Amino acid sequence: MVSILHDNSLPFADRLYQMQEDSRYDVADPQVSYGQTSSEEESLPDPSLFADIHAKPAPPTVPKVFLSNQCSFNCAYCGCRASRENARRYCNTPRELAEIALTQAKDNGHGIFITSAIYRNANYTQEIIIETLRVLRKELYYDGYIHAKIMPGVDPLLIEKTGRYANRLSVNIEVAQNAGYERIAKQKNKENILVPMQQISNLVRDSRQYRSKSSPLLAKSQTTQLMAGSSEESDRTIMRLSKALYHKYNLSRVYYTAFHYQDKAKGYDELPFTQVPIWRVKRLYQADRLLQLYDFSPDDITPEQSPDLCEHLDPKMSWALRNIHQFPVEINNADYEQLLRIPGIGITYAQKIIRARRYGLVTHQTLRKIGISLKKSTYFLTCNGKYEGGNLLSNPEVLSQLFSEAPNNEVLPLSSMH
Ligand code: SF4
Repeated sequence: MVSILHDNSLPFADRLYQMQEDSRYDVADPQVSYGQTSSEEESLPDPSLFADIHAKPAPPTVPKVFLSNQCSFNCAYCGCRASRENARRYCNTPRELAEIALTQAKDNGHGIFITSAIYRNANYTQEIIIETLRVLRKELYYDGYIHAKIMPGVDPLLIEKTGRYANRLSVNIEVAQNAGYERIAKQKNKENILVPMQQISNLVRDSRQYRSKSSPLLAKSQTTQLMAGSSEESDRTIMRLSKALYHKYNLSRVYYTAFHYQDKAKGYDELPFTQVPIWRVKRLYQADRLLQLYDFSPDDITPEQSPDLCEHLDPKMSWALRNIHQFPVEINNADYEQLLRIPGIGITYAQKIIRARRYGLVTHQTLRKIGISLKKSTYFLTCNGKYEGGNLLSNPEVLSQLFSEAPNNEVLPLSSMH
């Protein structure tokens, strides 16, 4: 263990307050779930972002505690960056942080997320995090859920040690294109993010493989955070990257956040002030769910000719209106994947329809009985050949107006249906 220098001049209560402030720059924690449940599910700070996404109620949020906000890196968007003047800095001791974490985990009842800015350097910070985890597990006997942050470019041995105490690990990829690091986070690069991500992936694989009580590894999952708009990328670029990350690193979640840069940072003179709208994050989470649970491809969601998600239509409706020739779907003989593509029908209802078919023909009345609101789906399905959508299937522009979430229900020309 390295010898640790701590800056504890900030009073304890102020440190706690400051930790809340610092949380804004990192959401790659247990923040959102969409339709799956496990002891590791966590929820989102702003549930309105996830309207229409959850197949089941969102599980609770896990609190986040910071070792330090005194960063040696200088990411433009971050309040912990090295060059930020007049920042109220702190660095807790492992014992202090473990005690804070224990109190918050007990209050919350669902776990704790332990993270930090890069205090002095990545290995040094990771060692303090490990010591905090050790105190929490071995001296304070906390046996609940822990999510721990891995510092960019950290030594693989320290990742392994962290994985002995924490259930979930994460390193933030932040940008969707390599050029984005030079643009907003000059000390980060593809290697110091993706190499640890691969090492965590290997660790998680080993941990799942050797589940026995004698296994020293606890880490069973990995997540990351990606900031939309940080490198002026399209949503298509994000979708393709997310798909690749899920596949290559076996991630449990990609968390999305909106790039926000409103406070001039030293070393970023050329970077324009940016505030990516929150609706984009909501659409990305919806699109992510289609990728992960509905077997859509990035090309389905964001084809080359429409590379960005639509503000006013959810991505599943957008896909349906672009592919109107695939509708209506006959409920009585469609396969599960076809049912899932009908706007307004999700996993639960697709399964219910398949079960209902065992007992006879499914009618519109059957759909109502099993709880399906036909408000959206009626335009996209037939029941035993019967169609109740009038002539709207031949008028996708009218359908787009009907389901537009724009305040004035504006008509979206087909060419703009992203
Ligand atoms: S590495 Fe960058 S994003 Fe992370 S705490 Fe430091 S300045 Fe903030």
